[in-house]
Amino acid sequence: MRSGIWKDYATACLQWPGTILFPPVCLACHDHVVRPGTLCAGCWPAMRFLEKPWCEVMGTPFGHDMGEGFLSAEAIANPPPFARARAAVGYTGPARRMVQQLKFHDRTDLAPWMARWMLRAAGELIPDADLVVPIPLHRGRFLRRRFNQSAELARAFARLAGLPFDPVAVERIKGTRRQVGLGARERQDNVRGAFRVRPEKEIAVAGRRVVLVDDVYTTGATVSSVTRALKRAGARNVDVLTFARVLPGDFRPEDADTI
Ligand SMILES: [Zn+2]
Repeated sequence: MRSGIWKDYATACLQWPGTILFPPVCLACHDHVVRPGTLCAGCWPAMRFLEKPWCEVMGTPFGHDMGEGFLSAEAIANPPPFARARAAVGYTGPARRMVQQLKFHDRTDLAPWMARWMLRAAGELIPDADLVVPIPLHRGRFLRRRFNQSAELARAFARLAGLPFDPVAVERIKGTRRQVGLGARERQDNVRGAFRVRPEKEIAVAGRRVVLVDDVYTTGATVSSVTRALKRAGARNVDVLTFARVLPGDFRPEDADTI
């Protein structure tokens, strides 16, 4: 019996070495925790979960309740092409580390845990959604990185939400510079016309209400460009869901938009 358990464990380790968290460690650092999928006592208080009251359009929290339907200055001054954006957490300390671990250190095992928090943030979007689509990675970067972090999050979220998922509905048709180091306006110019719905996927997108998933909302340049591509293909509505969001006032030009 005992040796059977060890044999199962050894087999599991050989098959999925990256996904076995044993013993469990904090999702954001390497401290040990009691249960897998949690944060340690140091990281919990530093994680900023985004809560209502928030801007109905941008999902950015207000300091105090402004009443139902109140919009942020950002949403009024610069109305986005998508209907609503929601994010699970502010892009601060532990959230930033989780995104970087997922993106640059092949920690795809983090995606299902991150998607659980995204599910909570997407409560209002799910009843209005038909299809979940990720931001596509540039082909050259996909070959180097071997996975698309947005697609990992989108797949895990779609499974939890019980929604159809299409990882390849949108493609990049233009090479873009890295968004790191660019200001808001330059980011917009960089990604303008960079995406399209694949011609064979137009039928899957036309008339649908799409949830577009990315890892981090920075200036919104990339998700806006993809939203326009989805609408050109006939999508009825586009909402945006990200794991983290750079909050107004926290923008740093070195933050990477998904690229
Ligand atoms: Zn920690």
